[in-house]
Amino acid sequence: MAVLVTGATGFIAQYIINGLLEQGYKVIGTVRNESKKEKILADYEFNPNLSLETVPDLCNLNAFDSLISKRSQDIDYVLHTASPVFFDCEDYEKEILLPAINGMKSILNAVKKFGHEHIKRVVMTTSSAAFTTLGEKDKLIDETSWDPITWDEAFKDGVHAYFASKTFAEQGAWKFMKDNANEINFDLVTMGPFYVFGPQLFASTFKEKKLNLSNNVIGQFLNLAIDPNDETVPQKFPDNGFIDVRDVAKAHILAIQKDEFAGQRVMLYNQQCNGQDIIDILNDEVDGLKGKLPVGRPGTGPYFRQDRKIVVNNEKSRKLLGFKLIPLETSVKDMAMQYLNYANK
Ligand code: NDP
Repeated sequence: MAVLVTGATGFIAQYIINGLLEQGYKVIGTVRNESKKEKILADYEFNPNLSLETVPDLCNLNAFDSLISKRSQDIDYVLHTASPVFFDCEDYEKEILLPAINGMKSILNAVKKFGHEHIKRVVMTTSSAAFTTLGEKDKLIDETSWDPITWDEAFKDGVHAYFASKTFAEQGAWKFMKDNANEINFDLVTMGPFYVFGPQLFASTFKEKKLNLSNNVIGQFLNLAIDPNDETVPQKFPDNGFIDVRDVAKAHILAIQKDEFAGQRVMLYNQQCNGQDIIDILNDEVDGLKGKLPVGRPGTGPYFRQDRKIVVNNEKSRKLLGFKLIPLETSVKDMAMQYLNYANK
């Protein structure tokens, strides 16, 4: 069995690839830059079941044609994780919206054109951003919810652009499935994580690039230059949903293994958390940090939750997943210890 995983350099994709290799799958990963291949292959100790292909430009509507036409007989499943995950850029359309939206179109079209006899399922990584929009209050969110963001709102700033990119890409994917229902033999699953925390699969990632966006939430609290007396630090991360990266990867792999996932939107959510919850864990559970970080107002994390009153109900997804999710304490602690160990070397 072989799986195509797009965006092989990514925080989440690295765990997915690792899990697939451990379970004996062959993996074809994509990178956008040829020069990244050697390091990735070395990270996985040149596992003979891993090969890499270059797909340079996700904005190109035929981006995946040549890869899928060349290797369609080798591929059973597609996990499309590649998408821009940053907010700072100059051209929201070119750098955030189009790679997400056209990337989705190009992979589904390529599977339709060249892979539909062999490829059974496409699993696309969407986001909580496709389920709920910025600043929504007093709302119950479940697997039927959609972010109501409009195309015009996408251009307000980078965060809006990101939310819109995930929403329009996912909506486009479901529309594609509906419009092409009579011409395709594969099904679609979308996996929507909330904020993903946890250690990097390879600590060497710290050397090459700054932390991926979601883990940078914890990274900013670990920056020891922060004034320990700064009481506002906990508010730097307003209440949001969380899931551990290892659970996200496990869920993506299950999504190709279980028939019940076909046609589902899966919400990858464990619990709410905010800056105060994270600061409390760092101060109480990570050796050597006490006295070096701000404390905010310990134990008041749940109080901040009352501001937003977003209630997430992902019972349906939890049932599909069927495994116990890693708690916030473990995720934050594992990430922080890895970061501090590496920084102190
Ligand atoms: P990373 O930034 O670590 O990985 C993103 C991946 O997408 C990288 O492989 C990156 O390649 C690739 N990519 C980004 N832009 C482009 C582009 N224009 N063309 C080609 N490749 C591109 O992020 P994550 O691992 O955290 O995210 C993976 C997926 O999970 C994304 O779809 C994201 O939206 C989703 N997600 C993540 C959450 C989180 O909290 N981390 C929460 C919800 C959803 P390169 O290394 O070359 O830049």
